[in-house]
Amino acid sequence: VKVLLTGGSGFIAAHIIDILLQHGFDTVVTVRSEEKGNRIIEAHPEVSKKNLSYVVVKDVAKEGAFDKAIKSSPPFDYVIHTASPFHYNVQDPVKDFLDPAIKGTTGILKAIKEYAPTVKRVVITSSYAAMVNGKQHPKVYSEKEWNPVTWEEAMDHSQVYRASKTFAEKAAWAFVEKEKPNFDIATINPPLVFGPIVHYLNSLETINTSNQRTRNLIQGQMKEKLAPTGNFLWVDVRDVALAHVKAIEVPEAGGERFFVTAGFFSNKELADIARETHPQLESKLPPADSPSDFPENIFGIDNTKSQKILGLDYRPLKQTISDTIDSLLAVGV
Ligand code: NDP
Repeated sequence: VKVLLTGGSGFIAAHIIDILLQHGFDTVVTVRSEEKGNRIIEAHPEVSKKNLSYVVVKDVAKEGAFDKAIKSSPPFDYVIHTASPFHYNVQDPVKDFLDPAIKGTTGILKAIKEYAPTVKRVVITSSYAAMVNGKQHPKVYSEKEWNPVTWEEAMDHSQVYRASKTFAEKAAWAFVEKEKPNFDIATINPPLVFGPIVHYLNSLETINTSNQRTRNLIQGQMKEKLAPTGNFLWVDVRDVALAHVKAIEVPEAGGERFFVTAGFFSNKELADIARETHPQLESKLPPADSPSDFPENIFGIDNTKSQKILGLDYRPLKQTISDTIDSLLAVGV
């Protein structure tokens, strides 16, 4: 059984590769350069070329970007689409975020419909960003919620990432409704994803966005004062990766959106865990009595669908942060 995974050089995708291989899928990843592709292959020396290979797709926003990658022999059975920009270096909201997110998603769906009739399901990495309503949080977040962001609001650099995820996911559901392709889709909607960085792709400078706060914490950047937590929901990358693979394995996952979260955290909790699991870092960490910014009243969350249908059993924060710190120390942070 053969899977195409886009954005193979990404943080989440690297963990998806591991689980796909463990579960026996032949895996082809798309990457933006041969160099990245080769690094992925070299990091899996025990895996044969049949089980793991790559194709170069330089820019997912380009018309027809996936037309070549999607044609494969033997043909693909499933596609997992993770490639989408996630960083805070916005120059042009449309070119840097909205185009690759939206056109990347509709582009791959079009290419599958046209050239890969054997594909049964497409799993798309969406986000809690496509669910959150910062102006008026619901009592309980579940898969029913949609971010009400408008195109105009998306021009605001602080909003554009969330908007890109919202519009991309909406475009995917709209495509299926209108085009009625041979495949169904499922989306995975995680909040902040923490967990071991992938050593073969990362250097000190290129730690993926959602692990940067743990890096900053253990580098001493919060020593004087904890940075505001901002977003209080998290999940472990290995659970997110498993969710993607389960979403192709479990028939009932088709047509569903999955809010994939382990629960709440605050930067204060991260510091407390770091102090406990890595006491040698004490001199870099904020004082033990630093105040927490966790609100007295916060919305609820309902992640039961991900547990029931995908069978997820979420890792606890202490394990995730401890493993994240180990992985950061291993690349010299
Ligand atoms: P990474 O930045 O590590 O991965 C992003 C991937 O997308 C990289 O492989 C990147 O390639 C690729 N990519 C970005 N833009 C383009 C483009 N224009 N053309 C081709 N490839 C492109 O981030 P994550 O692993 O964290 O993110 C993966 C997915 O998960 C994204 O869809 C993101 O929105 C989503 N997500 C992430 C969360 C998190 O907290 N980490 C939370 C919720 C959702 P390259 O390496 O060459 O830049």
